[in-house]
Amino acid sequence: MEAVISVKNLFKIYKMGSQTLAALNDVSMDVFPGEYIAIMGSSGSGKSTFMNILGCLDVPTRGEYLFNGESVISKSKIQLAHLRRDNIGFVFQSFNLLSRTTAYDNVELPLLYCNIPASDRKIKVEKALISVGLKDRMNNTPSMLSGGQQQRVAIARAIVNNPKMILADEPTGNLDTRTSMEIIQIFQLLNDEGITVVMVTHEDDIARTSKRKVVFRDGKMHKSEDTNDRLIATEQLKLLPKLEEVII
Ligand code: ADP
Ligand code: MG
Repeated sequence: MEAVISVKNLFKIYKMGSQTLAALNDVSMDVFPGEYIAIMGSSGSGKSTFMNILGCLDVPTRGEYLFNGESVISKSKIQLAHLRRDNIGFVFQSFNLLSRTTAYDNVELPLLYCNIPASDRKIKVEKALISVGLKDRMNNTPSMLSGGQQQRVAIARAIVNNPKMILADEPTGNLDTRTSMEIIQIFQLLNDEGITVVMVTHEDDIARTSKRKVVFRDGKMHKSEDTNDRLIATEQLKLLPKLEEVII
């Protein structure tokens, strides 16, 4: 099987005055279709740098990056934007939604760059919002939504274009335990449908919902191992108290 992502000898070097810092120091890794990877490692170990490069939001200082067998490094800015638009959904810790804009309009945004007729856009946006459980919230702006709901909007935006891959950098970092599991439940369902997921997390319980755990240390890939005690979010949610039960 061909890797969706194949990176070889990836470096990201920052120069600050006379100092140099290798945020990524010779990282090689393959990601295969259908994988669900959790990337762990202490703060500053290079996780976000790695994710931003995978998501074509940043470029490495040197090294090779193949997406679906095609070299990414040699592509122009416009080609990269197209690759990202057509293949990759990115989810951030801080949601990154437009604040004065409805959930519907936030999710529609990536489609405005695609030349899709308005009627088709409506179908896609509604389908994405329904699939993350926000049918009744389409016209709400982010300030009217909880953190978990805002992250659902961000996931709907990430999947509206049917990406092959979701990259998520600490997607549950700002959320409580139950809401985090609800977000993971969505990722696991998307993964069951065939979308490859790579997610950064600090938390062991969240990492255990993945199929493979990769640990970064000092810009290097320190460890990669299959998750043999994988948690299924749907099962975990049955064990966690509902919000109202906690308040009472
Ligand atoms: P993580 O996401 O694992 O916390 P990062 O990838 O954000 O780590 O950062 C890795 C290292 O690279 C850190 O030491 C960080 O300070 C450094 N770094 C990240 N971005 C920059 C930048 N734009 N300029 C200089 N140093 C940076
Ligand atoms: Mg980070």
